[in-house]
Amino acid sequence: MDLGPQGAVKDGAIDPAKDVAHLIHPYTNLDAHASRGPVVIERGEGAYVFDSNGKRYLEGMSALWCASLGFSERRLVDAATRQLATLPYYHVFNHRSHPAAIQLASRLTAIAPEGLNHVLFANSGSEANDTAIKLAWYYNNALGRPKKKKIISRWGAYHGVTIGAGSLTGVPAMHADFDLPIANVVHAEMPSWYHGARKGESREAFAARMLSSFEALVEREGPETIAAFIAEPVNGSGGGVILPPPGYFEGIQRLLRKHDILLIADEVITGFGRTGRMWGCDHFGIRPDMMTVAKALSSAYMPISGTLVSDAIHDAMKAESRKIGAFAHGVTYSAHPVCAAVANETLKIYEERDIVGHVARMSPRFAERLAALREHPLVGETRGIGLLGAVEIARDKAERKPFDAASGVGPYIQARAMEHGVIVRAIRDCVAVCPPLIVDEAQIDELFDGLRSALDDAREWVLEKGLA
Ligand code: PMP
Repeated sequence: MDLGPQGAVKDGAIDPAKDVAHLIHPYTNLDAHASRGPVVIERGEGAYVFDSNGKRYLEGMSALWCASLGFSERRLVDAATRQLATLPYYHVFNHRSHPAAIQLASRLTAIAPEGLNHVLFANSGSEANDTAIKLAWYYNNALGRPKKKKIISRWGAYHGVTIGAGSLTGVPAMHADFDLPIANVVHAEMPSWYHGARKGESREAFAARMLSSFEALVEREGPETIAAFIAEPVNGSGGGVILPPPGYFEGIQRLLRKHDILLIADEVITGFGRTGRMWGCDHFGIRPDMMTVAKALSSAYMPISGTLVSDAIHDAMKAESRKIGAFAHGVTYSAHPVCAAVANETLKIYEERDIVGHVARMSPRFAERLAALREHPLVGETRGIGLLGAVEIARDKAERKPFDAASGVGPYIQARAMEHGVIVRAIRDCVAVCPPLIVDEAQIDELFDGLRSALDDAREWVLEKGLA
């Protein structure tokens, strides 16, 4: 075989047999992969990526909800290169620091929700949420409340895959066989009106019922045993873009305050303008004690995440570390200089180009094109905010009934969309869209045109197979 410099075959194709032989793919049916082989993405340009056959796709998911500035932002390449040439690696353990870390910590806390003035960096959203669990425990140990340790998460939440974050994640398939969740993690209901409302129940009545169910859970577990509650302001990949019903977060926060329970906001998807405001929290009056960020922090060009904490938590951390001698936590690549430099440049670009304002300006077109899909015979509901949306596929629209789980309608739509040149994401029978924040109106149209064609194909397929 005629291999190019990186092992690529010179005609531009990649040997899929090597992928199948050696590369383990996350979130993939590993058995099916052996016969299907990989879709190899070779390069990116703006909001588009190109596969090894040269086919172009509009990346309607920003890859994994992350490549906010698209796939060819030169300034990020230059920022990484400059940092690599100056100081490719250093750490922030034991009183050491470096300019990129200091700049990023101050830049990030300056735009963070009020009161979150301190940040601890790591590499992934999972680590940021694991850190948040540890800090909730550390905080209560520092305050002399060793029993206050449970973390409430929600069914359908996605907070990552590590042992702690994977326990917070409320997706049963991610617990089964991995021996999760760990002790001290409890799940509340996800307030998804479409999936959970009773017949004729208004969104307000549904929110009230979710709140009393939450209060009952807190009482059952014992508030004195509960350290924190974690939630995505808008749930992303676990439940399929679930927006909170009216009054939900207000009610939750009243309860948390009453029982001295910390609120952790997971802004890994919703942060940095995705929703048309800087933070998902900004839409719902959420005042978190901790907040986790990743993905768009560096436009995903380098792996970096952060756990931001309030002054009160930071004070407790200082007091406890004085007692013990050190704050005994951290990873080698915490505030990695190259990642931090790229994140700094990303945040500069957001500000200079008013990316949050751009998303707000693009949102009406996105919302209009998304809502228009409700007329489609396969669509039970559409949900969205900013440049984040989902289409719920239904077998019976009026009854809000999904297709049989095994029917594979969602994955079929995802595959057809790729044929039509757009990448969307099937979460069971919900189809999510989350394009780069730099898209223009023509690209929003292109995304929804492709998705509509895929839905039309699926309608025919469903009728042919007798699934409807
Ligand atoms: N939180 C949320 C809301 C996420 O969507 C994700 C990843 N999709 C994570 C945490 C975990 O991030 P990572 O995959 O970087 O560990």
